[in-house]
Amino acid sequence: EAKSQGRNRFAVYHEKMKTNNNEQLKLEADLHKAVKRKEFHLVYQPQINLRTNRIEGVEALIRWNNRRKGAVPPGEFIPLAEDMGLIVPISDWVLKQVCHDFKKLHRLGFQKLRFGVNVSPLYFREEQFAENMIQITEKEKIPARFIDIELTESTIMPNATSSIHKLLQMKKHGFKISVDDFGTGYSSLSYLNRFPLDTLKIDQSFVKSICKFDEDSSIVEAIITMAHSLHLKVIAEGVENEKQLDFLKKEKCDFVQGYYFSKPLPLDDLIDFFYKWEAEWIK
Ligand code: C2E
Ligand code: MG
Ligand code: MG
Ligand code: MG
Repeated sequence: EAKSQGRNRFAVYHEKMKTNNNEQLKLEADLHKAVKRKEFHLVYQPQINLRTNRIEGVEALIRWNNRRKGAVPPGEFIPLAEDMGLIVPISDWVLKQVCHDFKKLHRLGFQKLRFGVNVSPLYFREEQFAENMIQITEKEKIPARFIDIELTESTIMPNATSSIHKLLQMKKHGFKISVDDFGTGYSSLSYLNRFPLDTLKIDQSFVKSICKFDEDSSIVEAIITMAHSLHLKVIAEGVENEKQLDFLKKEKCDFVQGYYFSKPLPLDDLIDFFYKWEAEWIK
């Protein structure tokens, strides 16, 4: 009896595995075609300078509209793209699209805007990473100082010597470098000081608990103070309410982004948002 039960259990498990695998295989096949089918698009989230109250940057975030499943979040398909060896073509597409959108905004008069571009650890570790980034911006005739490369701590920490080498190569061309999700890794700020960085982005999880947990508020305060002592700018991500904003202003955080100001927006909506923001600002 125990045996047959065991077999049944296996059968159930097996069935489930099969459907999961089928779904997985379909999604993988779809992802292969997604670039050519033009199923990706970018949305942009404004980044506000707290001292001037102006939008000085936007973060580019990829979106995938799959024919069968609709919107698939990047948290789901980026790891898949990494497994399938598709992260390089997808990331190159992102940077090219950013360059095109940069030119469009430039023509409309938004000429100082910086564009944050997220980079997968897998791509960063590729030998040709820095060269590809440089080549794309040169081909598109975009000054690299308008591109802000976002990398996590765990992306740059292993093989520090090689990371520093790549980052220096990019800095020489003018790229800005940001550490994304800062505080979730295990690196000390003094260690990070070995890397040629411009900005720390405080992870949302800390921002969420500002004014809720004293300890997290203290961590945010400490990150800002220490970052400034190392001449790094600070961006707080995931700002959702006025309390968080007031705290960040008081602590002299440089930039904020989050739903409190705007969700990530398609380019046309972003342009509308800029005009409204400017009108409000001039008042
Ligand atoms: P990330 O770079 O840390 O991006 C921030 C995420 O927080 C985005 O989610 C954004 O939509 C979301 N967010 C912004 N403001 C708020 C807020 O106030 N509250 C909350 N709850 N969330 C907020 P998204 O777009 O789903 O992206 C998730 C992650 O996927 C990104 O985290 C990034 O690691 C990755 N990703 C997105 N686009 C790309 C890309 O083009 N290339 C690569 N390699 N990774 C990407
Ligand atoms: Mg990011
Ligand atoms: Mg982040
Ligand atoms: Mg993240």
